[in-house]
Amino acid sequence: MKIRCATGELHEVEKARECQSCLASVPKPILHSLLLGKDRVRTPKEKPAFGVGTLVVDCLRQSYYKLTEEEILDLEKLWIFSRGHAIHEFITKTLEDKKEKEIFIKSEFPQFDVIGFIDAMHLDTIYEFKTTGTIPETPQTHHVLQVQGYYSMLPEDKKKLISKIKIIYLSLQKIKSFDVPKRDILPFLESRAAQLTLALRHKVPPEREVGWQCKYCEFYDMCFKRDAALSGPALAEALAKAKEANNTGAHMSVSEAKPGQATLQ
Ligand code: SF4
Ligand SMILES: [Zn+2]
Repeated sequence: MKIRCATGELHEVEKARECQSCLASVPKPILHSLLLGKDRVRTPKEKPAFGVGTLVVDCLRQSYYKLTEEEILDLEKLWIFSRGHAIHEFITKTLEDKKEKEIFIKSEFPQFDVIGFIDAMHLDTIYEFKTTGTIPETPQTHHVLQVQGYYSMLPEDKKKLISKIKIIYLSLQKIKSFDVPKRDILPFLESRAAQLTLALRHKVPPEREVGWQCKYCEFYDMCFKRDAALSGPALAEALAKAKEANNTGAHMSVSEAKPGQATLQ
């Protein structure tokens, strides 16, 4: 992870802690809290594990870039994340750790795992909390899919106990709760994860999923300039070439492993 300084320079986290312009924009104790634990290095694993959130976003190419490109954050974004995290902590304070909040779930597949943390589960209800500047009229699609994904991944005995799924939006002014229908979307998660696994394995991004999110996408230039040619038939060709070069003949490809599930070959 790199931090974008007010001067435009990109810092290593260590450097940002002592940078005079970073300290001028955020006072030292806050800056150090914001940067706490941010210099952890991610170690690549043999078998990828994808968070549910990574799979349900509107564009899988965006997730691919997030996994393969260095993350660059400015202090303002770090503040928004940390503030959201602090609100999360506060509202789940009275719940029992690992049993009623931050419940780890995992679905294993031959070539990848899908993992997630359920914000809270109390009696017969799954809760997903979202902090936001403005509370939306209806819940966002990827938020709905995320929480339905968690439901789908629960072990059968726990699933039976659930009768409600709720997304709670929290702004600094208001709290608003939305009911989400129960739905098993495991095949969808599997298919998305298979596409991402294939893309990562061959280092070829998945197809663009163009939509409203492109306007806010931090990888816009990369997607439409650097990788401009990687779309449609040209993308399929690049993938075929990468497969050949990697000579994966000995391995089962993701699509062969699960016919009819993965949509990208
Ligand atoms: S610019 Fe749009 S299509 Fe490209 S990665 Fe971002 S969200 Fe996906
Ligand atoms: Zn700086």
